[in-house]
Formats: sequence, C-alpha cells, structure tokens
Amino acid sequence: MEKDEIRIIVVEDESDIRTLILHHLSKDGYSAIGAVDGEDGLKKAENDCPHLMVLDLMLPGMDGMAVCRKLRQNPVTKNLPVLMLTARGEEEDMVSGLEAGADDYVVKPFSNRVLLARIRSLLRRSGVFAEDGHDSKSMTVGEITLVPERREVTVNGKAVDLTTGEYKTLHVLMRRPGVVFTRNQLLDLVRGTLHAVTDRAVDVQVVGLRRKLGKAGSKIETVRGAGYRIATR
Ligand code: CA
Repeated sequence: MEKDEIRIIVVEDESDIRTLILHHLSKDGYSAIGAVDGEDGLKKAENDCPHLMVLDLMLPGMDGMAVCRKLRQNPVTKNLPVLMLTARGEEEDMVSGLEAGADDYVVKPFSNRVLLARIRSLLRRSGVFAEDGHDSKSMTVGEITLVPERREVTVNGKAVDLTTGEYKTLHVLMRRPGVVFTRNQLLDLVRGTLHAVTDRAVDVQVVGLRRKLGKAGSKIETVRGAGYRIATR
C-alpha cells in the first residue's frame, strides 16, 4: 500500500495539538484526518475507512476510553488500531486505556519522532504497512490467492477471470481480512473502475465475485446492516 493511501484519524479537541499532529503526519506522507471530539471521531472512523486512530484520552463529553469501547463494539471499527495519547505520569490512564481496547499509548508531551515511530510500529503490527513492497506480495485467504504484481486471482491454483471492478473489490477486502467494509467505503476505494455510482454497484461486484470464485466465494461474508468482509483464513 502506498503511504498516502494510509488514512489516520486524529481525535484531539485542543486545536493546536491536533493541527500539529496532522501536520507531522501529512509531512511524513500519510493522509491525515482531524476529528474535534469523540463523536466526530466515531463518525469518521465508520465513514472514512481509516487504518489507524490517534485518540486523546482527555476529550470533552465522551472521553477517549468511551470512544475506544464504542469502536470495539461496532463491527465496522472493531479492529481499527488505536494509539492513545495520555497525560504524563498517569499510569492509571494508560492501564485503563489499554483495558478499553487501545493497542498502544504515547505519553504527552511527546516528540514527533516518537509519535511517528509508534504509529509506524502499530501499522506494521496490524499488517497495514510493511517496509518492503508489502502490496506486491501475494495474499491468500483459504483457497483464494491474489497476486497484485500480476493482477492475478486463483482458486486452488486455477486462474479466475475477473472484471476490473470485481478484482479491485476483492483486493480491498483481501488486504485486510476480517475487517468489515461498508458499501460506501468499498465504493470509494474502488472508485474509478465502477461505472455506476450507487451502493448497489458494490452488491453487483460481490455477486459476480461469489459466482466466479465458486465454493470459495463463501469467504466473502455479508455482515448484516454493515457491509462486507473476507474471512481471515
Ligand atoms: Ca484533549
């Protein structure tokens, strides 16, 4: 995945700090999205298909811990990696943050280098980001293998002939097994190859994919009221 395809949401009510973090993320090559409070963060986490959230613990209204719990309860955002920002010396905050489902934390005030290093390591741990051409490596889920370099999909070693829209949809799903994508997210991610502009266009791709993949098509799961995901194995 190209770095500028990696979307990071920064939830921080203090605008100076938020602006600074967004600035450093953009400068480092990421696509950075700001959120001013917990509710804004949750909405963007569901709609903008981010790869990671930087979440301040101290927020007006819903605090970082409550946001984290809500993320974990929603099938769409359940697996979103969360890096929590906590106050200096508040060990209790750090522990509660991790208990609420944060994946890592950084103590304020922090240097940009530390923040970027933690983000990088969390993205790598989550399988989103690898140093060396992660995206050109083949991916496998059950009997399905996708080789981006050759734009090739096989089931049990037999090549499957997909349309561009079907291929892109499968590619998006296979890059993040187990992650639920809403129809809108899928539409956004494969846009440019789908000619129709309604949610239904996504359903059409999925129907086509399932048919062409045969038995392995059941790996593409419908999550009722949410969207689609591919099984993890
Ligand atoms: Ca704050």
